[in-house]
Amino acid sequence: MVMAKYKVLHFKKDCISCGACAAIAPEYWEMDEEGMADLKGSKKVDDHYELDIDSEEAKAINQEAADVCPVNIIHVKEKKS
Ligand code: SF4
Repeated sequence: MVMAKYKVLHFKKDCISCGACAAIAPEYWEMDEEGMADLKGSKKVDDHYELDIDSEEAKAINQEAADVCPVNIIHVKEKKS
């Protein structure tokens, strides 16, 4: 079975704490104690955070978060299998 696989990337160090991602996609995004956005369940990879997602719905929700981020630090990418 072929399943769509994506990953969400968050370049957290450039977050300006606007809260837009957490407002539009609270299932995946929350604000941490320092007022920075946190991609729930993500792990640190090099200079950013990553979360694997499998469904088109999850992709769409996180793409909305990417679209509202004023500093363009959220990206949804297709994973190569
Ligand atoms: S929308 Fe972008 S800048 Fe705003 S809190 Fe989320 S990650 Fe940070």
